[in-house]
Amino acid sequence: MSAGVDFAALGLEGLRVDHAAPFRMRRVAEGATVLTALDGRFAILDDDELRAFARGEVEEGSPLFEKLAGANLLADSFDVPAAAEMLRARRSFVGAGPNLHVFVVTLRCNTSCVYCHASRANMDAVHTDMTPEVAEKCVDFALSTTNPSVTIEFQGGEPLVAFDVMKHVIEYALERNANLGKELEFTLVSNLSLMDEEKLAYLIDRRVQICTSIDGPADVHDQMRKLPKAYGESGHALTLEWTRRINERYREMGLDETLYHVEALVTTTRALLPRWKELVDTYVDLGCRALFLRPLDPFGFADKTGDRIDYPREEYLEYYRRAVDYVIELNREGVEILERYAAIFLTKILRGEDPNFLDIRQPAGAGIGQLAYNYDGQIFTCDEGRMLHEMGDDSFRLGDVHTSSYRDVVGHPTVRAVVIAGQLAGLPDCNDCAYQLYCGVPPVHSHKTQGSIFGRMRESTLCQVHKGIQDYLFAKLAEGDAETRAILERWTTIRPREHFLHGA
Ligand code: SF4
Ligand code: SF4
Repeated sequence: MSAGVDFAALGLEGLRVDHAAPFRMRRVAEGATVLTALDGRFAILDDDELRAFARGEVEEGSPLFEKLAGANLLADSFDVPAAAEMLRARRSFVGAGPNLHVFVVTLRCNTSCVYCHASRANMDAVHTDMTPEVAEKCVDFALSTTNPSVTIEFQGGEPLVAFDVMKHVIEYALERNANLGKELEFTLVSNLSLMDEEKLAYLIDRRVQICTSIDGPADVHDQMRKLPKAYGESGHALTLEWTRRINERYREMGLDETLYHVEALVTTTRALLPRWKELVDTYVDLGCRALFLRPLDPFGFADKTGDRIDYPREEYLEYYRRAVDYVIELNREGVEILERYAAIFLTKILRGEDPNFLDIRQPAGAGIGQLAYNYDGQIFTCDEGRMLHEMGDDSFRLGDVHTSSYRDVVGHPTVRAVVIAGQLAGLPDCNDCAYQLYCGVPPVHSHKTQGSIFGRMRESTLCQVHKGIQDYLFAKLAEGDAETRAILERWTTIRPREHFLHGA
């Protein structure tokens, strides 16, 4: 309950808590301690305030009293209905059924990324293309979800290698959905190197959202994401060129460019750590409105190449803090760009809402928010579970589209187990962590890195990242600078991209 708070240094024996509602606490900076209530509201106290609170000397009606009561931290004024409503709002996704359906339309890829999490296959591995029959069964399965919203996300391999399969999925899903009336979206995750005008025209016409990967400056990107010369001089140049072209198309269509643009993701490798400024500048120059500073995951080829490209997570956090400090500075100068990790946590911290990012929520999305369909019709709890299958571990396999029913899959014992393991209140360390209401660790990550879906957070690299980022954000809020706060609040604005919705 008292992580990092040195009571003796504050002249205190300990806490007198009979006046306090249940809370968790953490030191986030010199002279700043965050207290979080059971419903996720919070107050940041300076040391004098903390002393007064710890001794039970909070005068009714004082500014400190108002601050604590406003965060539901005082026993006498603890508002049970408001707390219940806030908790309900934070977990509104539970019970809706899987919304994200990842389709691996092929494992083939023309690029060889050093860290490829997907375990890509060579271009001649045509047996890893999804057949039209399997594609239709996957669509039927995805549309049988209880969730009224369905996103079909094309992954690979490189989905543009199997463009005809993608097209078949889209046409068949639109046809099937004409009677079902679900809110249907399509997302393509692509390196863009095989894009051409004809494919783009189709994707624009069918309102497919497009995401890509840009690992910062050209030399790092091309070193990590190796594209054979036959496809172009530089994968980086090709990806940037198509990103600009697609954004231009959205502008020509009169779409709001702050909302409609290619979403690009970073995979942070060791080579990128000192290049945080160039990385941010690359994204700003491209007109991107969001940057997602993701650390390396332990799946796929990254498991083998880690010696060369991985790094201690303290170094990642230093890179993260520098980059986001710079992003905040740019915002002060009028550049509108946000960091996605920060936006996810801040939406929960400042708005009390959950943006439903499946890997940072509890329970995590595996099986109840997401399903992944392999090219051969096998179904997994999530794309990471499917990645483990490619590494020879079938722990997260739920069945297949040929023989399994929707009930078999979503009620599978593995889904039940990961839901239980994803409840942070049941995990040592998370149980009394001040960030419990904002956090989430996918059980598949704990399984891969620690051999158990019930993670040992003290040794978890993902916990280290999540804790470090939230420490940074609370320290920023503790500075009390109104302009910084306004920028961070702006990052929590959720604006639906209605243009991409079908059947709404
Ligand atoms: S990460 Fe994507 S683009 Fe890179 S090799 Fe793997 S499948 Fe291909
Ligand atoms: S994963 Fe780490 S940071 Fe998140 S709630 Fe658990 S202990 Fe806290």
